[in-house]
Amino acid sequence: MTTTPPAAESEATDEPDSALTTARRQLERAAAHVDVDPGVVERLKYPTRVEQVSVPLEREDGSVEVFTGYRAQHDDVRGPYKGGLRYHPDVNAEECTGLSMWMTWKCAVMDLPFGGGKGGVAVDPKGLTDDETERLTRRFAEELRDAVGPTKDVPAPDMGTDAQTMAWFMDAYSMQQGETIPGVVTGKPPVIGGSYGREEAPGRSTAIAAREAVSYYDRDLSETTVAVQGFGSVGANAARLLEDWGATVVAVSDVNGAIYDPDGLETHAVPTHEEEPEAVLAHDAPETLSNEEVLELDVDVLIPAAVGNVITADNADAIRADIVVEGANGPTTFAADAILEERDVPVIPDILANAGGVTVSYFEWLQDINRRQWSLERVNEELEDHMLDAWNDVRAEVDDQGLTWRDAAYVVALSRIAEAKATRGLWP
Ligand code: GLU
Repeated sequence: MTTTPPAAESEATDEPDSALTTARRQLERAAAHVDVDPGVVERLKYPTRVEQVSVPLEREDGSVEVFTGYRAQHDDVRGPYKGGLRYHPDVNAEECTGLSMWMTWKCAVMDLPFGGGKGGVAVDPKGLTDDETERLTRRFAEELRDAVGPTKDVPAPDMGTDAQTMAWFMDAYSMQQGETIPGVVTGKPPVIGGSYGREEAPGRSTAIAAREAVSYYDRDLSETTVAVQGFGSVGANAARLLEDWGATVVAVSDVNGAIYDPDGLETHAVPTHEEEPEAVLAHDAPETLSNEEVLELDVDVLIPAAVGNVITADNADAIRADIVVEGANGPTTFAADAILEERDVPVIPDILANAGGVTVSYFEWLQDINRRQWSLERVNEELEDHMLDAWNDVRAEVDDQGLTWRDAAYVVALSRIAEAKATRGLWP
């Protein structure tokens, strides 16, 4: 496996917080609370494999540039590897591996018949034209062709990729295989086998998790203030749903900063990243804040829904929210988690809160296999049911063992994975 330096965000905090380091520490910590064979825990610290590929791209000026792509496949004891593909300059083997571990737990906590995978290309997608993105995606799909497939490994959108990226990936794969195979990726546009509701799903599940957490701590959504960092598909959909359900969303941000209105923003009027990139600050609001300030607002619920490693040992003491709900993957470092636990600030973890994305990906995969499309109403109803089942499983561990929400979610996931591993056995 290739090792590359940790992501830039973690360097600022002086913490060894690559996604892989964090994921391994979280696993070890949670394993202490489950009666699980230490051999299973040892196996789960390592991915099955990490593919590294070179992706040559002809640029618009005729020159050729070679980008590096990855696909980390962590564990498939419960079903095909599943997880997103990101296009971001910080993508590297170590980050993909850590993120693929989180996908293993996420799928297990939701009781989906999938394992964990994650991949991507180390590229800044903002620096590519649409045609270049299409060529890069098609060539990446070809380089990964042997590694993926509807029963092997099923990619999906993640940071810097979207439904169109998945359409190009599916088309390239299908052309080479000689038949249309929609189930090779999820998160496609509905017209080619995508699921209604998939795009909103991670935001919807984040909102459901926030709603359930507010009720668990005996509060009323109509008296709840919310701050959301990130206004892409996760943050925007979570903010809008929570507003629809009666909460007061006082701040939302994008990479340039936040808008703040203590009386509540009209979040449907603020353009999402997909509707108009980086336009949050252009929306009229009484105050603007920096991205750091939005994390430290005195609100009931804080939803970090942008990038990883934003709540660190440096700012965990300054977090004034009563509840943190992780919309992004890995927004809280291991050290920050300990500080928040000490301060009795509950953190609803990413592997539960934003799991609506992969859950509706599962619905999409079922629809593709059955060649039968579900209505949006059915998708949202089944998502609600799956989220409440997972919420109740995790809540039971919180109540019975007095665990943090993250440890409880890991315990639920680990128990399911360990049972599958024990039942299948180690071969040879
Ligand atoms: N990239 C999303 C995640 O981190 C979705 C993965 C999927 O749908 O496979 O959960």
